[in-house]
Amino acid sequence: MAIEIFIGRNEQMMRQTFGNNVYIVPEDCSTVSSPHAKLTIHNNGVWQLEDLNSKNGTYVRNAEGEYERVFNVQITPDTIIRFGVAGHMSHSCWACHIKSWYEGNKDSYFYEFDRIQQLAAKYNEAVAKQEAINEKHNWIATFSSAGGMVVFIGMMACGIGGDSSVWMIGRLMIMSALPPLVKACFSKDGKKLKALRMKRAALLTCPKCFMPLTDIEIENRKCNKCKAK
Ligand SMILES: [Zn+2]
Repeated sequence: MAIEIFIGRNEQMMRQTFGNNVYIVPEDCSTVSSPHAKLTIHNNGVWQLEDLNSKNGTYVRNAEGEYERVFNVQITPDTIIRFGVAGHMSHSCWACHIKSWYEGNKDSYFYEFDRIQQLAAKYNEAVAKQEAINEKHNWIATFSSAGGMVVFIGMMACGIGGDSSVWMIGRLMIMSALPPLVKACFSKDGKKLKALRMKRAALLTCPKCFMPLTDIEIENRKCNKCKAK
């Protein structure tokens, strides 16, 4: 038999209608309806999230960290859901939290921190890789300045182009154009690293208060802001 969990505010009203098959959001999340949505966990492992004509909508977070409105979608335990409009009057949680809350583990974020640690390891690896690439490119750019100088002196010493002022200018141009050209090839390095770090900050958020998590908080599997663990 599938498990059906009804999500909403106003505990008394929710329990009167749906008994124990509920997930109650805090009363101050005033943009959440009663009921707001339904999570169905089928025996075959399929998780289905359905908005129950709520006033302010149900949203799920995509891979970019943005929230998209949904009406009836298949999700996973790792899906991050927001009930209601953005801001502190909405309620957000991982789908798995609805199930653990329903099963009586209301304050456990064990599963979420496990997944966050895995994701952090992946991001740290990607950031380290990009940092190594940037360092290599910086070194090449620095070297190209010296390279330009060597070419200039070499051409002078070998008498390439003679001593005419036109050739002098030509050699100077080669020398000065090389470093900016090389730098231009690597101009996206900084942006790539910044984008990676921003995405990491947007995605690695506390599973309860959704504030960005520090490396230490991830390592300790505990949010210092709201004490979730
Ligand atoms: Zn927190």
